[in-house]
Amino acid sequence: MNVVSMTGKSSSRPIVTENDYPELREAVRRICEKFPLEYWNALEERDSYPTEFVDRLTREGFLAALIPEEYGGSGLPLRAAAVILQEINGNGCQASPCHAQMYIMGTLLRHGSEEQKQTYLPQIAAGKLRLQAFGITEPDTGSDTTKLKTRAKRKGDRYVIYGQKVWTSRALHSDLLLLLARTTPLEEVKKKTDGLSVFLIDLREAVGNGLSISPLPAMINHSTTEMFFDGLEIPETCLIGEEGKGFRYILDGMNAERILVATEALGDGYWCLNKAVDYAGSRKVFDRTIGTNQGVQFPLARAYVELQAADLMCRNAAAQFEAGLDCAASANMAKLLASEAAFKAADVAMQTLGGFSFAREYGLERKWRESRLYQIAPISTNLVLSYVAQHVLGMDRSY
Ligand SMILES: Cc1cc2nc3c(=O)[nH]c(=O)nc-3n(C[C@H](O)[C@H](O)[C@H](O)COP(=O)(O)OP(=O)(O)OC[C@H]3O[C@@H](n4cnc5c(N)ncnc54)[C@H](O)[C@@H]3O)c2cc1C
Repeated sequence: MNVVSMTGKSSSRPIVTENDYPELREAVRRICEKFPLEYWNALEERDSYPTEFVDRLTREGFLAALIPEEYGGSGLPLRAAAVILQEINGNGCQASPCHAQMYIMGTLLRHGSEEQKQTYLPQIAAGKLRLQAFGITEPDTGSDTTKLKTRAKRKGDRYVIYGQKVWTSRALHSDLLLLLARTTPLEEVKKKTDGLSVFLIDLREAVGNGLSISPLPAMINHSTTEMFFDGLEIPETCLIGEEGKGFRYILDGMNAERILVATEALGDGYWCLNKAVDYAGSRKVFDRTIGTNQGVQFPLARAYVELQAADLMCRNAAAQFEAGLDCAASANMAKLLASEAAFKAADVAMQTLGGFSFAREYGLERKWRESRLYQIAPISTNLVLSYVAQHVLGMDRSY
């Protein structure tokens, strides 16, 4: 394949590699080569989790990229972690089975006590504990997080939890769960964002003792679950930070989450685009390659332009995050642009491959389905637009 890179040079390497952190990218790529499309297709057929892939990334320290060195991680900047996720998706693999460990642990790092950090972070960094599950969404409350109904009531030096969470990804493949629950009823708080608390729960002890988890089969292989809390008792030491301040702690972590997920989405987009450009250059119809036709070229060129624009926004947001600036607007905009650019690239690639895009062996239909998610989770496009309208443009809050 022969793609013009960002520097204007012709390259036979995938577009996604013409970038920063070349050694990190190369290291991730070497791992991804060992997990080809057949591996992912076989997992999907069995609704299975990519344990070997995640173990490999964990062993080689990639999932501890953001854990500071003093706790056994590599203390890399957010951009480096984003590059790891982008490379995973950009090489045909799937980062979603393990991406959450990168951003969930930020809440523990920023708001946990020193004792909690010493207890968990070195073990997470060493791959002895998995922190992959994050329980916020509930069946009835949707994006209106402050209305969530899961309740944690104090009982002496313990909390007792009742409620239900939905779409909790990877809960059956994680040792720990970061949970957002209401500790003070909505009617008793001054601001609706008050009275929510964050808990770090050991799932190995909780399951079967007041917590049950069931798989929630979905359009993509995402290890999604439903969780039912029916009087789960946890020690008060599970509370992260101060009781009632949990909503703010979760908000604090959202910029990192948005930037990581946005950059990950770009990986899907670039992978699909590469596939399509390759195919367009070799598939002959009417005695010439289909890529000779502008009707095939232009949508691919536009998809590239849009991926590059989103890429720049992701880098900008990551740089602002690293500099300690307020990056909420950039992180949200990066997520919006990347989610749309990635799916558009996947869709254009489907059109380019014609009927073969539906063949499972090409992996494209899987990427098309997977890349659709980013416009909905972890936050849907309309909610991002509401944020920009209100907080950037100063317009009235619309909800
Ligand atoms: C595969 C998958 C994995 C997930 N993993 C997790 C996880 O690990 N942990 C977790 O907590 N959650 C998870 N989620 C949930 C995800 O974060 C939510 O689905 C997402 O935030 C959207 O919430 P909702 O589905 O309740 O949509 P709703 O809030 O019900 O919204 C539905 C639609 O209405 C629109 N809408 C709502 N309110 C407004 C408004 N005021 N203005 C304009 N439009 C509006 C939304 O934009 C959306 O398009 C996952 C979801 C999926 C599908």
